[in-house]
Amino acid sequence: MAATGTSVATHVVEIDASHVGSYAQAKRAFATRSLPDVILLAPGAVDTKLPFTGAGQSLSGDFLLGIDDGSQPYRDLGLDEIDAAQVALEEADFIVSAGNGVTDIGAFEQLAGEFGAAIAASRVAVDNGHFTRDKQVGATGKTVEASVYIAFGISGAVQHLQGIKDCRHVIAVNLDGSAPIAKRANLTIVGDAKETIAALIEAVQTARRKHGRAPAAASVREPLGAAA
Ligand SMILES: Cc1cc2nc3c(=O)[nH]c(=O)nc-3n(C[C@H](O)[C@H](O)[C@H](O)COP(=O)(O)OP(=O)(O)OC[C@H]3O[C@@H](n4cnc5c(N)ncnc54)[C@H](O)[C@@H]3O)c2cc1C
Repeated sequence: MAATGTSVATHVVEIDASHVGSYAQAKRAFATRSLPDVILLAPGAVDTKLPFTGAGQSLSGDFLLGIDDGSQPYRDLGLDEIDAAQVALEEADFIVSAGNGVTDIGAFEQLAGEFGAAIAASRVAVDNGHFTRDKQVGATGKTVEASVYIAFGISGAVQHLQGIKDCRHVIAVNLDGSAPIAKRANLTIVGDAKETIAALIEAVQTARRKHGRAPAAASVREPLGAAA
């Protein structure tokens, strides 16, 4: 590629019609650039089990490495799937988090299982005895860096926001659209946590029935600099 002057972007986690994006500086920054000639996705950036229906283009030529044929130095080892409950919060890429506005803890935990997401909580939810202290996110809890953090019934006190400052996409579900979490969130659903959780469980199960898939395993953030 160097000989032909081909431009390459590696560890890409975001693509649209005009740019690609990837994490930089130990995930403290997000870098974007215009579309290169070749895009190498970050490990786990896409779900390989999705039913890809786009018009694929078949390529052949000497430049293809013949990956996986055993004759090359590189081999695709696939994805490791692990139980969401085993994932340390600091490493989780997808987190659902419960606050004082979550009353049906069982349904919340079921949703986490359906999503394959790790469970977190606000300090009030921990103090109430709904979750163990190791689930607490915030100034006196854990700092998380998930790509997706869904905050159910969490007001967004400054101490909680401190723990999610490095999360990429924050989604809030709150009865109060003016709660502080809505200012931090990329998307706010103004509604009841219990109803939203029930609707999400139903939506995931319907999608799974349609595609004949087993419940999701947890997704884990790839450390920066991991080979693509
Ligand atoms: C020194 C110090 C350290 C702290 N450290 C932390 C920390 O590490 N982590 C932390 O989280 N907090 C911490 N706190 C506490 C923090 O200030 C807040 O009190 C706490 O985060 C509030 O938790 P909450 O948002 O779950 O509850 P609440 O403040 O009670 O908010 C509940 C939210 O849920 C919404 N809601 C209610 N019912 C529903 C429903 N049915 N559906 C949807 N939404 C609903 C409400 O509109 C509200 O916004 C700390 C405080 C201090 C003083």
